[in-house]
Amino acid sequence: MKRIAVLTSGGDAPGMNAAIRAVTRSAIDAGCEVYGVHQGYAGLIEGDFRPLSARSVGGIMQLGGTILGSARSQEFKTEEGRLKAIWELRQKDIEAVVVIGGNGSQAGAYALSQMDFPVVGVASTIDNDLAGSDITIGVDTALNIALESIDRLKTTASSHQRAFLVEVMGRDCGYLALMAGIAGGAEAIIIPEVETKPEQVVQVLRQAYERGKTHALAVVAEGAAYNAAKLAAYFAEHQARIGYELRVSTLGYVQRGGAPMVYDRLLASRLGAAAAEALVRGEKGVLAGMIKGRVVTTPYDRVVGVQKPLDPELFKLAKVLDT
Ligand code: ATP
Repeated sequence: MKRIAVLTSGGDAPGMNAAIRAVTRSAIDAGCEVYGVHQGYAGLIEGDFRPLSARSVGGIMQLGGTILGSARSQEFKTEEGRLKAIWELRQKDIEAVVVIGGNGSQAGAYALSQMDFPVVGVASTIDNDLAGSDITIGVDTALNIALESIDRLKTTASSHQRAFLVEVMGRDCGYLALMAGIAGGAEAIIIPEVETKPEQVVQVLRQAYERGKTHALAVVAEGAAYNAAKLAAYFAEHQARIGYELRVSTLGYVQRGGAPMVYDRLLASRLGAAAAEALVRGEKGVLAGMIKGRVVTTPYDRVVGVQKPLDPELFKLAKVLDT
């Protein structure tokens, strides 16, 4: 019998619990014993392992966040920290780990696997910035939450002839902003991948005002060179030229909260099961992700440090539709 551990790391993402459940139940089904690691890599270093059963992961599918907790650990970035983690794993006769998390977490998993400890990753982050999966666990729910807020802001904006500047999360990746902008009907989308000067946004909002639009919306990614705070400061000096009254709304952490929606529950179930099956087959040093609609595993050297490009066609589409 193989004994494996599962942990969640980095920023929490809706659907992580469904992934924990899928890893646990698939591994048990294949004859493994499963331990849950509390608080990500920090718990791995401290040996905070607790047994998971098919029953103990019941009733968690619909919960946001992660029942195992997540943490950021500087110590795990050092070789010494990872050696401590391996020592703790060996103390418990644990032979492999499943790491559910985003970019940084998978870099940590790669570092661990390079020290000859078997690891399989599950692509999970609301930022969708992870190569090896076209879409990651949590993105769909985060987008739906952002969109609901945008729809509400548009309603109030049209009653008052206002323009709204809405900042969404995504770290250095503009995916969330671009998709929320297209789906929310934004007049302007400002993302880190495309240089946008504040004056260009002023012009776009002015044109919308002159065309008689009752409201205007600009969606900005938190990682853009001009984020919401910087744009707002610029707009404050050019209010008269814009026409609309301006309001800023930063969505922030609400995008992570809430129950995972159907897509994320299904994706997490599929990727979690695939990770457990890969480990049982003896695969290691790979990430379970979804590429072109298929669940696949990709070796970490083709994932970690690889930039995932944004589809430029989507940015063009956003421009065409904002008239
Ligand atoms: P998200 O982007 O969704 O917030 P993430 O997985 O990218 O999630 P990070 O905070 O970047 O989150 O990384 C989580 C943890 O992974 C870090 O606290 C650290 O312990 C570990 N980690 C990150 N990069 C490395 C690395 N190069 N080597 C070893 N461990 C790392």
